[in-house]
Amino acid sequence: MSNDLKTSGRCLCGEISFTAELTNNHADACHCGMCQHWGGGPLISVGTAAGDLHIVGGEKLTVFESSEWAERAFCSKCGSHMFFRLKPTGQFMVPVGLLDSQSGLGFTKEIFFDERSALYQFANPTTKQTGAEVRAEFAAALSKKRQQRSHRAEPGS
Ligand SMILES: [Zn+2]
Ligand SMILES: [Zn+2]
Repeated sequence: MSNDLKTSGRCLCGEISFTAELTNNHADACHCGMCQHWGGGPLISVGTAAGDLHIVGGEKLTVFESSEWAERAFCSKCGSHMFFRLKPTGQFMVPVGLLDSQSGLGFTKEIFFDERSALYQFANPTTKQTGAEVRAEFAAALSKKRQQRSHRAEPGS
C-alpha cells in the first residue's frame, strides 16, 4: 500500500489520538439527517477499514449506538467526534478535520444528497448519491461479503 494513505490525527483536547491507513484518498460528505443532528451539519470524513484505525487513549472514547447497524464515538472530555463505524463491515469514517494533514486528499462525493440542508451547498464538483442509492450499494456489498464468508466457512476448505 502507498504511504500517501497513512495518516494521523487527534481530538481537540489531545487525549485521544490515532494513526490510520485510509481506504482511498478522498473525503466524502454525508448529508443524512443523523449526521446533521450529530455534528450540526454534514459529516465530511475519510474511510478506513476495520483494523486500519489505531487509537491511543481509547478509554476516553464514548461510543453511542446510533442505529442497529452503526455507532458513533466521541471524546468524553472535549466532545470531538472521533468516528462513525458501520457495524456489519467494521469500516470507520473519521472526520477529516481531525487529521494532522489533509494534503493529498480530494473531496469528490456527497451522499444522502436528498437529505441535505437547503441552507447551503458545496461548490466542489462531486458525485452525488441519494440515501436510497447508498443503501442499495451497501446492501449489495454486504451480501457479497456474506457469500464470501459462507464459502470460507465450508467444511474442509
Ligand atoms: Zn478530546
Ligand atoms: Zn450520515
